[in-house]
This record gives sequence, C-alpha cells and structure tokens, in this order.
Amino acid sequence: MRPFLLVLSAPSGCGKTTIARRLLAERPGLAYSVSATTRPPRPAERDGTSYHFLTPVEFARRIAAGDFLEWAEYAGHRYGTLRSEVDGILASGRAAVLDIEVQGARQVRKHFSDAVHVFVLPPSGAALAERLRGRLTEGRQDYVARLKRAGQEMLAVSEYDFVIVNDRLDDAVAQVSAILDGEGHRVTRQVGLDQQVETLRREVAREADAADTQ
Ligand code: ADP
Ligand code: 5GP
Repeated sequence: MRPFLLVLSAPSGCGKTTIARRLLAERPGLAYSVSATTRPPRPAERDGTSYHFLTPVEFARRIAAGDFLEWAEYAGHRYGTLRSEVDGILASGRAAVLDIEVQGARQVRKHFSDAVHVFVLPPSGAALAERLRGRLTEGRQDYVARLKRAGQEMLAVSEYDFVIVNDRLDDAVAQVSAILDGEGHRVTRQVGLDQQVETLRREVAREADAADTQ
C-alpha cells in the first residue's frame, strides 16, 4: 500500500492526541509526525517525542529556511509540521499521523491531495470544558481562550472527509481504525495492482482452458 497522511483535527481538549497515541500503540503501520512548537513543554512532555520545542527565533529561522510543510499560530504560540518528519515516515512505508489544527490541515490538503482528514468532536460542551479543565496546563486564561476558539474551529468540520465523536475513547479509537482500514483498501493506494490482476487473469485463463479440455 502507498503510505498516506492521516490528519486528525479537533478543538483543543477533545482528545485527538489521546486517540492518536492509542492508534499508534495498536497499529504498527503508523508513525506520529512530531510537530515543532514555540509553546513551553507540559510536565509530561518530552522534547522530540511530544513536540520539537523551539525558541521563537529558531522557529522563524526554520520558516525562512522552508522547513515547514505547514505552520499556524494557536493560542499565542506557533506550531508547524516539519517536511523532514513527514518525508521520513512516508519513506519508511508507514502512514503519518498529523495532530494539527484546522489552518494547518488546509495547507496540508494543498500539498497532499490524497491525505485522509478526520475531525473529532466532543460529546458535549460540558465534556470538552471538563477535559480542558482537567488538563489546565497553560492556566485559566488559556483555558478560556481555547474554549472560545473551540466553537469557531467546529465550523470547519465540513472541510473534513470523516467526523467522529470522542465520547467513549475505545469507540473513538475503533472508529478511526476502521477509517484507516477502509482507506488502506482504496484502489489508488495499491502498489502493483495491475500486475496482481494480470497474474490472476493468466491463472483464471489457465483454469478455463483446463476445464474446457476435460
Ligand atoms: P487534544 O489533543 O485534543 O487537545 P488530549 O488528547 O490532550 O486532547 O485530551 C484532553 C484530555 O481529555 C486529557 O486529559 C485526556 O485524558 C482526556 N480524554 C481524551 N479522550 C477522552 C474520553 N473519550 N473520555 C474522557 N476523557 C478523555
Ligand atoms: P496543544 O498546545 O494543545 O498541544 O496544541 C494546540 C493546537 O495546536 C492543537 O489543536 C493541535 O492539534 C495544534 N497543533 C499541534 N501541532 C501542530 C502543527 O504542527 N501544525 C498545526 N497547524 N497545528 C498543530
């Protein structure tokens, strides 16, 4: 199968990082595209695994160098997908999972027309607020800003190929997994399909000949 990009977007706190991590643990053919950001690390985050944490100066330098496939500003910080990250994953034959917001997803669509875009919705406003409060890593002001932005971001859902509601985590992970299974069977993603069909045609013709002479 030709490897492709899975773009996961959702208002902050909906659970897309949690879903992505679960998918990566369950599906060996996937790899996480580690984004770059100017946001400071959260307590559990590790440089190079959660994000590549860059200073604003370094981020600007890498924009100027053309290193980003896409980048955007979110809640006062810059976030971007490095071309090297995606290229490396695709070259290894795996699908790349991009956990990015809607402006970045629009830019990816321009470069990779065969990417699969999935939007994650929360089961309710109260559930989203509760999940964001549970994290509250960037302080109360940031929490309010993210909640306000959530309503705006949901308007972009119609730009996506698929939508899922992250109510029960197990169900949400299974739903994205099912999407990946389906996408993997797209005719356009198959490598050597013509040859496979040609071989089958020859085999079938031989079977027909043999049956004819019996
Ligand atoms: P995002 O990446 O969309 O900002 P996270 O994956 O960081 O969101 O999840 C935000 C919070 O919500 C985390 O504390 C996570 O454990 C929790 N969470 C994620 N999915 C669910 C779910 N289905 N039910 C309850 N809590 C969830
Ligand atoms: P957080 O600060 O919660 O980790 O991320 C804030 C928002 O930035 C989330 O919506 C997340 O998906 C998005 N984001 C993370 N990495 C990237 C990226 O590389 N590009 C873009 N455009 N958005 C990103």
